[in-house]
Amino acid sequence: MSEKTIKKVRCNICASGCLMDAYVEDGKVVSVEGSKDTPMQNGGLCAKGAASRQYLYNKDRILYPMKQVGEKGSGKFERISWEEAYDAIAKKMLQIRETYGPQSAVFYVGYPKWFRPAMLRLANAYGSPNYCTESSTCFQASDLAWRATYGNHICFPDMMHANTIMLWSSNLYHSNTPMTKGYRKLKERGGKIIVVDPRKTVTAKDADIHLQLIPGTDGALALAMANVIIEENLYDKEFVEKYVYGFEEYRKYVREYSPERAAEITGVDAELIRKAARCYAGNGPAGIMFSVSTIVHNINGVQNYRAVQSLIALTGNYDIPGGNPSRPGPAVPLNEFGQVKRFNGIEAIGEKDFPVWFDLSCEEAQCTRLADYILQEDPYPIKAVLGFGLNHNMWPQPEYLQKALKTLDFYVNVDIFYSESCRMADIILPAASSFERDEVIRGRGGILSLSEKAVEPLGESKNDIEIILDLAKAMKLEDPVLQLNLEEYMQYILEPSGLTLKDLREHPEGMKGKNVIPPEFKTYEKRPFNTPSGKVEFVSQALNKYEKTYGYKGLPEYQDFREISEVDREEYPFILNTGSRKPQYFHSRTYRMSWLNDLEGSTLIEMHPEDAKKLSINEKDPVLVSSPAGKIEGTASFCVNGKQGMVNIYHGNQEADANELIARDYLDPISGFPGYKSYFCKVEKRG
Ligand code: SF4
Repeated sequence: MSEKTIKKVRCNICASGCLMDAYVEDGKVVSVEGSKDTPMQNGGLCAKGAASRQYLYNKDRILYPMKQVGEKGSGKFERISWEEAYDAIAKKMLQIRETYGPQSAVFYVGYPKWFRPAMLRLANAYGSPNYCTESSTCFQASDLAWRATYGNHICFPDMMHANTIMLWSSNLYHSNTPMTKGYRKLKERGGKIIVVDPRKTVTAKDADIHLQLIPGTDGALALAMANVIIEENLYDKEFVEKYVYGFEEYRKYVREYSPERAAEITGVDAELIRKAARCYAGNGPAGIMFSVSTIVHNINGVQNYRAVQSLIALTGNYDIPGGNPSRPGPAVPLNEFGQVKRFNGIEAIGEKDFPVWFDLSCEEAQCTRLADYILQEDPYPIKAVLGFGLNHNMWPQPEYLQKALKTLDFYVNVDIFYSESCRMADIILPAASSFERDEVIRGRGGILSLSEKAVEPLGESKNDIEIILDLAKAMKLEDPVLQLNLEEYMQYILEPSGLTLKDLREHPEGMKGKNVIPPEFKTYEKRPFNTPSGKVEFVSQALNKYEKTYGYKGLPEYQDFREISEVDREEYPFILNTGSRKPQYFHSRTYRMSWLNDLEGSTLIEMHPEDAKKLSINEKDPVLVSSPAGKIEGTASFCVNGKQGMVNIYHGNQEADANELIARDYLDPISGFPGYKSYFCKVEKRG
């Protein structure tokens, strides 16, 4: 038998990037284990990571460049060479730029994310302002709320030093496995845990206090907690006086949200709200762990999020150890990350609809309404989409985007797997998985490492960055960084760190950068907040300036989705919550892995047994779920984890896509995020 070698590979199925030991024999990965080299992970892998050989060797892998030879959308593809593909893409992209202007091409990155700066460079060098990503429906709205209120990026909690952690709709065990170690340690040392979640998740079961709110009512709950904290003088007066803008207006506003009023809105007992507020404000340092998207997937999402994050400054837990620090650990400087800014000379898509997004984010355009912009030629004709990992299932009513993609003059998708989104493409290109390529990884504590190529790329698949660099050269675009080859580009990324690729190859376990920037706390004592007032803005001036034109409010005002949406509640009586995580799935691509599907199988429509009884629905009955936007079929699954009146559907299942139920214009007016977590539906038993 030939010898097995172990390669250190980063799992790239989700963004946690766990380190794996990949056992390679005869050029094939024969097994994987979680690596013990990273203390937080300590040998663990989630179900998805453990099944990752089925990701690498999946039957749906795209192995060669292909061009569509049948009618567009027919899915009839023919193999072509890389040269032919590059020539065809360069010729068409340049012709479109010449005829319609550079803005007519959209550069899009879905998943994975690691090559985004190179793609942004490509869009900039082409001259298009329309670089956009899956962050148009994930994460970025939370970041926008941070920038509007605190003037910086999202700050995650320092769980290792906290006495209290409030997990706000964050089910760590299913969505952020590497963080669970810190969570368990906090519990072991007697720290307090508050979980805010509409469902009794595994994470919530460990909590001292579980605030089981109705989905989408986060803002009312947070305002009521602020009410208790202020009324009972539990807030940090010194911090508020020195560093908060708009406190008096905020204080007046939160008076309207007594725990009793919030109890009616949220379904959480008023005394429990008081108890949670006292615990968070009184047992510090306390951090809030946010899920990146849960709160903001609501039509009042940004303001709900701002109401929650205001609690951090109100209690003086901002930028301190154990609270929500701006930089809890050492950081290592690198080229590219955070440095490349979006081309800003021409109006981008989404700019008229969501102006604050563009005021506060320099990185990307907002493309939730991409299908409208294509079909309505608004604000100008969009003729080409160059996508990497474009997945129409990310959008609400995804079939509408498919329809729009079909009308394009030219559409390219680069992906690991052949997906339904590829079916509309003129050309598809095969991307390599993390097992087949090198990648510079930024770890915690200033540690850098190289995710090693474990096996040769399958078929003719290539590293995404290599494809981007090749395309830039084929189009003769001028950015000097895009003239580098792959090795040179990775070396360029590393330059400021003081390490070389050779160093990382010799130390597969990772190395600390030489030019590490130490952690920093209480940065506000040295420099003002990056907001118009230089303070934390409870009344956001970035939002306030659009009050007359767009109706945005400076205060984190609560608007209830049940009152402001126009859906007929008699017709659609259930609150529809989508997008919770199952431990075995991430997004749609993990549904390709049969080891994971075998764990469960069919599309589960989770509903409370009492609700089902009223509709004469039995466990495992086939049911039809309808909303004003669409219909899907599934299997009734009785679940007492959620409240009565609520239906929960997991997303990403191609056989019955929950996003088909979400109306494409059901958006937060500030961020453009769809209300995935709180819409409306009805359930009927099928014959
Ligand atoms: S949490 Fe699971 S899927 Fe995500 S990177 Fe780690 S092992 Fe992979």
